[in-house]
Amino acid sequence: MKSVVKKKAPWYVAGLHFECLCCGRCCSGPGAGYIWVTRPEIEFIADFLKIPLGQSRREYLRRVGLRTTIIEQPLTRDCWFLQLTDGQRKCAIYPVRPNQCRTWPFWSSNLTSQKAWNEAAQKCPGINRGGLYTLEQIRKLKSQKQWWQNVQPASSSKG
Ligand code: SF4
Ligand code: SF4
Repeated sequence: MKSVVKKKAPWYVAGLHFECLCCGRCCSGPGAGYIWVTRPEIEFIADFLKIPLGQSRREYLRRVGLRTTIIEQPLTRDCWFLQLTDGQRKCAIYPVRPNQCRTWPFWSSNLTSQKAWNEAAQKCPGINRGGLYTLEQIRKLKSQKQWWQNVQPASSSKG
């Protein structure tokens, strides 16, 4: 007979607070980073920009081993798509931004411990403020791989 091992509740069992302040810090340098995109996401971006897939790959993406990342501005190391619009730095591909951008800050690396979460809060002022994300919501975001499966049709979304 198999013994039943009860899984320990994570430290964030009571939920976590987060509210994006749209400051753009998570999209900025000065440190270099990767903004990983999958094949479907590359297609969404090309469609959104209304350019051929090959052009999108040449102008905005680069390969790193077997993976693909969005390029950065060479001097600032900001994501290429973080652009000044009406005096504010905004994501130029927001409706089709990659899964990595959508699931921040609920990444496994930030959820390993309260210390890791609070370290992430040093660069993201939206962490530990705003509305409460329940354990269920956090788990869903943490494990989300294909954001487009969770997106409602345009007519029924808030936009
Ligand atoms: S750093 Fe945090 S608050 Fe600022 S844009 Fe990114 S997620 Fe939002
Ligand atoms: S794709 Fe958009 S949300 Fe993601 S890092 Fe670049 S500017 Fe930020």
